[in-house]
Amino acid sequence: MKVNAKTKLACLIGHPVAHSFSPYIHNFLAEKYGLNLKYMCFDVEPDKVGEALNGFKALGLLGSNVTIPHKVEVMSYLDEVDKNASIIGAVNTIKNEGGRLIGYNTDGVGFVKSVLDEGHEIKGKHIMILGAGGASRAIAIELASRGAAKIIIRNNTISKAEKIAEAVTMNFKGVEAEVGTLNIKEEDLKGVDILINTTPLGMSSKKDLCPIDESIIPPRELVVCDIVYTPHDTKLIKWAESHQLAVVHGIGMLINQALQSFSIWTGIEAEAYEEVIHVLKKEGVLEE
Ligand code: NAP
Repeated sequence: MKVNAKTKLACLIGHPVAHSFSPYIHNFLAEKYGLNLKYMCFDVEPDKVGEALNGFKALGLLGSNVTIPHKVEVMSYLDEVDKNASIIGAVNTIKNEGGRLIGYNTDGVGFVKSVLDEGHEIKGKHIMILGAGGASRAIAIELASRGAAKIIIRNNTISKAEKIAEAVTMNFKGVEAEVGTLNIKEEDLKGVDILINTTPLGMSSKKDLCPIDESIIPPRELVVCDIVYTPHDTKLIKWAESHQLAVVHGIGMLINQALQSFSIWTGIEAEAYEEVIHVLKKEGVLEE
């Protein structure tokens, strides 16, 4: 659709933003659903976040995504923050509702959808998360809110894992949380239903690294998820597949968090997963 006087704008703010896939996804979805909507990226300096958000209100933007390093800072300029985003302590999606800016976090939601879409349950499960950064926290909170029975956070810096465990047990009664180092032993995986890597181990320059010892023999029913999406098949995914385990690839979280943001802005539950993958491959940002 051509830009005209009625075109609405959604955007990404971050610093930097030049690497983002989001314009490909959201401009494709806007076209697909016949919306007079364009999506652009704005590189916003850290001391200009407040001005940018006031600009959203003044210009009547539909909404925005937020990326590093502004996911926490934006929260002080919002009129309302969704419950889980508030517990996570970071916002990656903003909706402008008639001049009121409302913050959401779709990272955990996107991850959980990618697991459910593969036919796996969350409720009642024991889940081990490797890493304790921003993605780990968003995923842990979403899993707890969906009724996981136990969440085990393993990370080199234990204090970061403890903070996430504390957020889980304080906000979700009945969900157990445990912490430990990244030094995973075979016996540590006994009783674990789902294992999730949220460290960068396995990604691009670290593609030859695996977050757990590959000589470990995993439990037969373990579901292994890696949120790293380049390469598509990380060392962890290959290890899981060599033991015939079910796997969930990182691309699922990437696409589902974007579909969820689009739904927050437009009310459209886009059924476009495969088409979005095709678009990203055509643009050369995903490997064929
Ligand atoms: P982050 O906030 O920087 O956290 C990174 C975590 O990994 C920290 O807990 C850190 O441990 C740990 N870590 C970093 N380097 C390590 C190493 N060499 N060995 C062991 N542990 C290491 O990052 P994030 O935003 O959570 O993102 C983490 C990864 O997920 C990135 O690879 C990112 O690309 C990917 N991701 C994917 C999606 C998706 O849509 N699929 C979305 C978000 C992120 P310490 O605490 O000890 O420093």
